[in-house]
Amino acid sequence: MTKPGKQKNAKLRLVAGPAIRRVCGLCGRGGKLTTTECCGNVICDDLDTYVTFSYARNSCYRNHSNQTICAYHHHEEHAGSWQECLRCRGDQEPEMYAWFATNEYNFEKLQDPPRFEPTLCSGCGKRIILSDGGYTFADGKRWCESCEPQPAPSKPRSARRRRSV
Ligand SMILES: [Zn+2]
Ligand SMILES: [Zn+2]
Ligand SMILES: [Zn+2]
Ligand SMILES: [Zn+2]
Repeated sequence: MTKPGKQKNAKLRLVAGPAIRRVCGLCGRGGKLTTTECCGNVICDDLDTYVTFSYARNSCYRNHSNQTICAYHHHEEHAGSWQECLRCRGDQEPEMYAWFATNEYNFEKLQDPPRFEPTLCSGCGKRIILSDGGYTFADGKRWCESCEPQPAPSKPRSARRRRSV
């Protein structure tokens, strides 16, 4: 079953032609623009609209610099193109790598992202989408929000002394 699209995806296709109006390569808006450090693409100069600690993904500039391999590759000063960089691939879990390389914050999405095994909750087996967050990492396993292991004070097995500071 296919869901009827709630919002029409107005895809801005920049077909070859003289760029008369500069627009952000991610959201297609004009206005205050700058270019990215990593790839030199035109992007919203919207860092100042970002509310600190809001965790909102509403800044094109910030999204590209924090959520893409393109920017990571540049920040880490790797050589060559990020699409072919093995160091970038090695640094990320495949699922995250695939997401970073193909999400909407990329000007150019990776054509052949690596396949990965879906991450499942260790409790109920529900799929955990790593890029969405909202999971807990405990005992070397991942847990969804409903299975999140609670700290068990009754079991003194991991007798960790709490130092009072
Ligand atoms: Zn934008
Ligand atoms: Zn970039
Ligand atoms: Zn790299
Ligand atoms: Zn679960």
